[in-house]
Amino acid sequence: MRRVSIFGATGSIGQSAIDLIAREPDKYQVVALTGGRNIAQLARDARALRAEVAVTAFPEYLGDLQAALAGSGIEATAGEAALIEAADRPADWILSAIVGAAGLAPGLRALQQGTTLALANKESLVAAGPLLMAEARKYGATILPVDSEHSAIFQALVGEDIAKVERIIITASGGAFRDWPLEKLATASLKQAQTHPNWDMGQRITIDSASMFNKALEVIETNEYFDIRPDQIEVIVHPQSMVHALVGFVDGGLMAHVGPADMRHAIGYALHWPERGHVPVERLDLAKLGKLEFRAPDEVRWPALRLAREVIEAGGLTGATFNAAKEVALDAFIGGQIGFMHMAEVVEEVLNRTSSDNRLDNAVITLDMVRKTDHLARQTAKDIIRQRQA
Ligand code: NAD
Ligand code: MG
Repeated sequence: MRRVSIFGATGSIGQSAIDLIAREPDKYQVVALTGGRNIAQLARDARALRAEVAVTAFPEYLGDLQAALAGSGIEATAGEAALIEAADRPADWILSAIVGAAGLAPGLRALQQGTTLALANKESLVAAGPLLMAEARKYGATILPVDSEHSAIFQALVGEDIAKVERIIITASGGAFRDWPLEKLATASLKQAQTHPNWDMGQRITIDSASMFNKALEVIETNEYFDIRPDQIEVIVHPQSMVHALVGFVDGGLMAHVGPADMRHAIGYALHWPERGHVPVERLDLAKLGKLEFRAPDEVRWPALRLAREVIEAGGLTGATFNAAKEVALDAFIGGQIGFMHMAEVVEEVLNRTSSDNRLDNAVITLDMVRKTDHLARQTAKDIIRQRQA
């Protein structure tokens, strides 16, 4: 039996992973499941999968969790330290699917036990990519991408020499406002932004898809995972979300990864790696699909894409600032304090104000530095939002 843990088990990715694991109960021993405020879901899954421990990130929910698990023999714990403790429990496979920078510390700790970390929490890679990669090397851990594009690239590179890669192309659906006239974007509402044309995902990543901040994070993520130059990474708009990424080689060959918009493929690939196992996603009927479209992305419509290039160029702690500022701007959009197009303006201003502090050699970055940078960026973003409202 393989020991597995799921961080962010109650979320969209976590639930898809549970769907896969629950189909083969004899193969997996579930160690830890973690969640946030959805205690009923967390307790239900912990009972169904006979987890050793269930963790809520928020201490004020510990009583509810204990009550929901009463008589089950499953441990209930809460808070940041409990998440770290859960990441310390020996497991063969750990899924990092907490949303946002909160996923960084548990992910880092998981790597330190030399495990296989299936990484959906792209924010941790954006905020602290060099640190995560260095820890993985140091402890002999493996990081497997759980993002449709990066899983696709990873699969296209099996058996290949990265030195023979000319370019990597990641696709973007274009999100909710792909076809809106540019001048209308400023009026985009929360309800409109959180409806994705193709994927069923958590609220935050859905809005990030409409603004292309998700793709911006993914360009940075590509730069962290694969040993190529930033100018070799391209983004293309592909409304059908069937081709997830393409890898172009020096001989002109272009390997495309095609599949349905269902994250269980990328999760399943990471779960069964290095082998391939059965994954119950829809099998594509290409004749029914008819055609696939591709268009160049428009950086006026999606300024986040330009910012991503600037973040890579600046390096150091700039990614941590970018991610934190983006999280605050997103909160402000969700809370109705700023408009849709203001999110990129806020993030850009935070980057401008902090640029001199962020330039740093990647090799000297520590978790503490990332935390401080994250904190400062959040404060700066909040100040900017407050000033705008005044
Ligand atoms: P979600 O909002 O559906 O779920 C997030 C999970 O994180 C929940 O279990 C929640 O309880 C937990 N959580 C929230 N705040 C927390 C905190 N402060 N501390 C600890 N736990 C906390 O999110 P999601 O859509 O499942 O996305 C999870 C991660 O996977 C994100 O990093 C996202 O970018 C990435 N991802 C998601 C998809 C997708 O299809 N949903 C695709 C690719 C990558
Ligand atoms: Mg993706």
